[in-house]
Amino acid sequence: MSRENIELLENGLKNFNIDVNDTMLEKFEKYREILVEYNKNMNLTGITEQREVYIKHFLDSVAIFKDGYIMDGLSVIDVGTGAGFPGIPYKICNPTIKLTLLDSLNKRINFLKEVCTNIGFDDVEFVHGRAEDFGQNEDFREKFDIATARAVANLPVLLELCIPFVKVGGFFICLKGPNAENEVEEAKNAMDVLDVKLVENIEVSLPDEELKHRILVFKKIKETPGKYPRKAGKLSKKPL
Ligand code: SAM
Repeated sequence: MSRENIELLENGLKNFNIDVNDTMLEKFEKYREILVEYNKNMNLTGITEQREVYIKHFLDSVAIFKDGYIMDGLSVIDVGTGAGFPGIPYKICNPTIKLTLLDSLNKRINFLKEVCTNIGFDDVEFVHGRAEDFGQNEDFREKFDIATARAVANLPVLLELCIPFVKVGGFFICLKGPNAENEVEEAKNAMDVLDVKLVENIEVSLPDEELKHRILVFKKIKETPGKYPRKAGKLSKKPL
């Protein structure tokens, strides 16, 4: 374990206004170890080197903490969480959040259970299934203060997948690459139909990364019309 990398993570977290402690750093490193171990037999990530995991997975996930959205006790659903990004890093940085991790691949859900057991989180909810189905399930629909997603779909599709989970007045936090501006243009109709307003478009700088990432924050203004999200095929074939 490299002291230099630990310091890079620590300084990066502090830069995002996160109150860093040793437990947090230990949980991040334990998470990385399990990720690398499972990745030998499962397709979880192409990034396994310590410095790269710290930057591209952990720091990238938690950049939104700088803007104060991930407040104590809020309910957060990570849609298409994969190997746990950004949801598990949110929980490591603020263990008081009520976290739900949703993914359509059961192998990944089993991996996430293993991670959470090992880093001492016994209050995370795991959901195996498609966002299209759970967005229409009354136990999940409009039940979360925050929905979040990274690298799951283009913005018009992603809004339809994620907004139904959010309570009116809540937020969808969307982690995007440098091309986010174009996606926002493409998503104008989806924003109208789903009654959401783009309230933040934040540029994120990460160590070693030349291209700036962006975080888009959408506020949900009204209840989502009952027909959304549509079924899987329809939703992606004819995006809003
Ligand atoms: N969010 C993670 C990250 O940033 O590393 C994973 C990204 S991975 C490219 C996309 C993940 O979304 C996969 O694990 C996939 O199974 C999941 N996914 C894609 N479409 C989905 C849907 N409609 N409902 C639930 N999960 C979905």
